[in-house]
Amino acid sequence: MNPIQDYWLDNYCPANGEVYGQIPNSTKEDVENAYIAAKSAFPIWSQTSLEDRSRILIKISELLENNLQRFAEAESNDNGKPISLAKQVDIPRAASNFRFFGNAITQFASESHESVGQDAINFTLRQPIGVVGCISPWNLPLYLFTWKIAPAIAAGNCVVAKPSEITPMTAYLLGEICTEAGLPRGVLNIVHGLGSTAGQAIVEHPDIKAISFTGGTATGAHIAKVAAPLFKKLSLELGGKNPNIIFADCDYDDMLKTTVRSSFSNQGQICLCGSRIFVDASIYEKFKKDFIAKVKTLKVGHPSEASTNIGAMVSKPHLEKVLDFIETAKTENGTILCGGNKVVVKNYEHGYYLEPTVIEVASNDCRVNQEEIFGPVVSIMPFESEDEVLKMANNVKYGLSATLWTNNLKRSMRMSSQLQAGIIWVNTWMMRDLRTPFGGIKASGVGREGGFEALRFFTEAKNVCIKY
Ligand code: NAD
Repeated sequence: MNPIQDYWLDNYCPANGEVYGQIPNSTKEDVENAYIAAKSAFPIWSQTSLEDRSRILIKISELLENNLQRFAEAESNDNGKPISLAKQVDIPRAASNFRFFGNAITQFASESHESVGQDAINFTLRQPIGVVGCISPWNLPLYLFTWKIAPAIAAGNCVVAKPSEITPMTAYLLGEICTEAGLPRGVLNIVHGLGSTAGQAIVEHPDIKAISFTGGTATGAHIAKVAAPLFKKLSLELGGKNPNIIFADCDYDDMLKTTVRSSFSNQGQICLCGSRIFVDASIYEKFKKDFIAKVKTLKVGHPSEASTNIGAMVSKPHLEKVLDFIETAKTENGTILCGGNKVVVKNYEHGYYLEPTVIEVASNDCRVNQEEIFGPVVSIMPFESEDEVLKMANNVKYGLSATLWTNNLKRSMRMSSQLQAGIIWVNTWMMRDLRTPFGGIKASGVGREGGFEALRFFTEAKNVCIKY
């Protein structure tokens, strides 16, 4: 093997299938060096005033906004998503993450409890943990990377962070922005490389005291096994297989438009996508016809073209995995209603393109409905009653999000309280208020991100009781 290959990993552009760069294949020693830099920055950063931390975070946010086009192009080139999507969603949201936590930290207060009758008062310090690890996936690269880093540094921690090796580019560019914004050296240390080496070294480092991880459920289970005996704080945001439940009394046009988005945005590679669509039997045939007609209008194309709705899948192995699921569906009595095939885009014949695919399934028990596919593939099936659909929605190992379409208030309340998911959307999808708790139950994870939940995760509570 060429020795150079030991030090570098190829980085592919999904839109044309070509290698366009290389990233360091970081080792355990690199992680140790990152840790040492973080540890030496911690005493000063943890004592930096909230106003100064806030100012730097907001500056990072402004610089991201000023560099919107450059970052959006880089994200698209690395991930395959349409530039238009990166420009509307990924990069503005990364900027919001810094702005939000830059503001939130100035409002994050300690609690105090007066112990009446005991002549004592308790107050609870919220102290930064020290050096923390942040590990993120490839689907929303900068968006999810910054969703962890921003609260971690706002709370006074220093960070060793690893982006996905599949989409490292915007994390690299973020480093430049942070330096320009005046973030002191050592506060944020970005390590590139593989999960099994660099990621593993972060998780098993005895002095990296908390791990915030977003990625697959199997990786999350492995990380929990390594981190638990080391008594680390753990936040795990994992996979999903989210139901999208459509009742006949919904606002039909709004539902249809949003369902196309919740099925195929980002090539269906969003953990929150509603990949299992359950439709009230009384409108099933109409929905099927209208939905397929709309899906057929989606244009699969090069991510740089303004008319592209569906860009390239993130990698060749992932494209093949999704195609395997489509084959599986055929063996399980699934009917491919539209899509199901690779797309050859002119001049980009080696890119990883796939048609948006709708599969009619016979039962919720099939693999297509039970396993996370994480691509532009959704299943549809009818239901007869609220009870039946609730059972099917909950009959899955995951519990990240659920979407409900109905104008019946009582039903919304009943179903929201009984659906097994950390996030429920009623008559909308992926509407986010960054103050709200974000996360899943069951195999979709442990812990919550967002708002003060994230600031609590990235701090240790210390109670002080004073008798007077
Ligand atoms: P993945 O688990 O393969 O990798 C995620 C990250 O973990 C990468 O940076 C990877 O290098 C690293 N990693 C891998 N092995 C590791 C190890 N042993 N120790 C430490 N780090 C390791 O996931 P992926 O394929 O990049 O992302 C897709 C998955 O992420 C899907 O399952 C999706 O549902 C999930 N996801 C969840 C959320 C959420 O908020 N719940 C959001 C986005 C994506």
